Order: sequence, then C-alpha cells, then structure tokens
Amino acid sequence: MTEKDYSGATTSKTGKNAKTNANSSKPAASIVKKEVKKEIEQNEESNADILSNKEIIENYRKAGQISKQIREYAKSIIKKDVPLAEIAEKIEAKIIELGAEIAFPINLGIDDVAAHYTPISHDEQKANGLLKVDIGVSIGGYISDFAFSMDLTPEKKYTKLIEASELALKKAVEEIKKNKEKATLSEIGKAIQKAIESYGFSPVKNLSGHGLERYDVHSGLTIPNYESQSEKELGEGAFAIEPFATAGNGIVYDGAGGSIFHITRGGQVRDSFARQVLEFILDEKKTLPFSKREIQKKFGTRGLLALRNLEQAGIINEFSQLIEESHSPISQAEISLIIFDGKVEVLGE
Ligand code: MN
Ligand code: MN
Repeated sequence: MTEKDYSGATTSKTGKNAKTNANSSKPAASIVKKEVKKEIEQNEESNADILSNKEIIENYRKAGQISKQIREYAKSIIKKDVPLAEIAEKIEAKIIELGAEIAFPINLGIDDVAAHYTPISHDEQKANGLLKVDIGVSIGGYISDFAFSMDLTPEKKYTKLIEASELALKKAVEEIKKNKEKATLSEIGKAIQKAIESYGFSPVKNLSGHGLERYDVHSGLTIPNYESQSEKELGEGAFAIEPFATAGNGIVYDGAGGSIFHITRGGQVRDSFARQVLEFILDEKKTLPFSKREIQKKFGTRGLLALRNLEQAGIINEFSQLIEESHSPISQAEISLIIFDGKVEVLGE
C-alpha cells in the first residue's frame, strides 16, 4: 500500500477529491486508529503484551525473510493473461503457508492504476501491461510492505520505466544507509527525484513512503518522492520507501473503489449479521486493511451486503484506486527497512 498526500502537490483536476480527502486529514485518521486500537486492546488481552525491542526486531526480520520468498514465488506465477484473482489468491495463501499474516490485500495495479486495487472473487481482469504487485507480510503485526513492477507487454516497452523506479529506490536506500536515523526527508526525496528524472520520467508527487507501526500500515512520517524542503530526520523505527515513476503528469487522483477496506471508527451496527462480520474483521485483521474477497470467502454474498451496511454506518471505508491523471502508466518499487541502534536493515535483503 502507499500513502497519498495532498499537501505537497495538487491540481485543479484533483480538487473535488482532494477536498473529500482533506476532511479525513491525517491527525483525525490517526486518532481514529488509536481509538480502534484501544478498543481492540481492551477486548483482547493477548494484544496488550509488550514485546522487547529484540523481539520486535526479530519479528521484522522474519517478515522480511518471508517477503523475499513471496517475491520470488510471485514472480514465478505471474505471467501475461493469468487472472488477477488467481494471482491474489495464490500469493495470499502462500503468505499464510509460510507462517505469516496478510498485512493488507495484495494490490495489483495495471498501467495507470498506481495502487489500492485488489481483485474481487470473480474478477474478469487478467495480468497484462505494466503490473504493480504490492504485498504486505506481517508477523504479529510487524509489517514488511514491498512492491515490484512487471512488464508483461510482448515488446517489453516499460523496461526503462521500471528501471527508473528501481534505481530511485536504490539511491534512496543508499542515502538512508549513509545518514541512518539522521537522513532527512529532503535528501531522500532528492535522491529519488534525481534518479527518476535521469531517465526523463517524473516521480509521482502525491504518493509517498511512510512509517510503519504495529498493525498500522501507514503511520507517523510521510516520505515524499521528490525534493521537499523538509529537514525532518527519519529517526529510529520502521519505514517503507516507495518511489513511483511515470512519463505522465506525476499526479494521481482518487478513482472508483478498489475492493480494499479499512475500519475508520469503532461503533455499533444494528444488523446482527453485519455485527458478526465486523467482529470477524476486528479479530482477524485488527486495524489492518481487508478485501471484499476475504469477506466473500468467509460469509458468501451476504458478507458483501454486510460490508455495505458497515460502510453506510460509517464504520468501514473503501480505499479509492489511485490513478495517474494523464492516464500514463506508472512503475513502482518498494522495500521496508528498520533503523535502530545506529543501524539500517532492509527487510528481506
Ligand atoms: Mn506497498
Ligand atoms: Mn507502502
């Protein structure tokens, strides 16, 4: 998953959507997350146990090792014309098989769809074009968020575009390894922008890297993919770095829902079946995003109606697909890393 940020870059075309998003601005969203978390902790004693730093680091390392296996597995099964639903189901099953949890539904974005689309159960789309594969592996809530792009065109026309985001990621990681917790957002963004522009492409300015916390895919810092003026330092913690490159305008807007949901606030719903579905989500997912597919698998078509109830009650919200403004294809590369004791460890490296 990625973080969309309106503060740095806006255009008139995104105005309407930007306004909607501004209403659920970051401070409010994080308060909601805290409230939901508190509710879960009160309901569940096992979640309240505090792990030592050493255990936390071990969990991140394990999530990283599994990420590496999942990345190889994903690359081996993804081919042109394989149904997206089949890819998603196989990869998510593999995450469980390897002893981890799914941190968020696998994002499969084709061409100008940058992020936040996961296939539904009988999705008609098949893998093609420029495919972004964005996966989250969690060990006890400690998340490795990573992504790569595949060129599925016969003529391999996106080779350079993919190289651009991969080089940007490499340069950003070099910058972080050099300055560790003192690496500034400005310097990281500059490294990313410079690498992408060296190919003649643009970074997507309103998609960003982000902090990671337990059961929280987006928390704390927003890490811009361009040279911002921010002298803010990364500090210690877990972070996802994720440059996006395009030959287009380099701005994404909110499109239709992408079948990925998250809980936005705690609350009661009148319908008892919807309540049952909500309990399942809280038990299984805590505060992590979930998909229509997972709910349909567990509860059948009725589950989808319950989702609509929960959405109408304001308890859950569907993420919008993020689409490039000029409908130009986008490439993405992402890794997660942890910074502690003056060291930087890239997960799964
Ligand atoms: Mn991601
Ligand atoms: Mn991410």
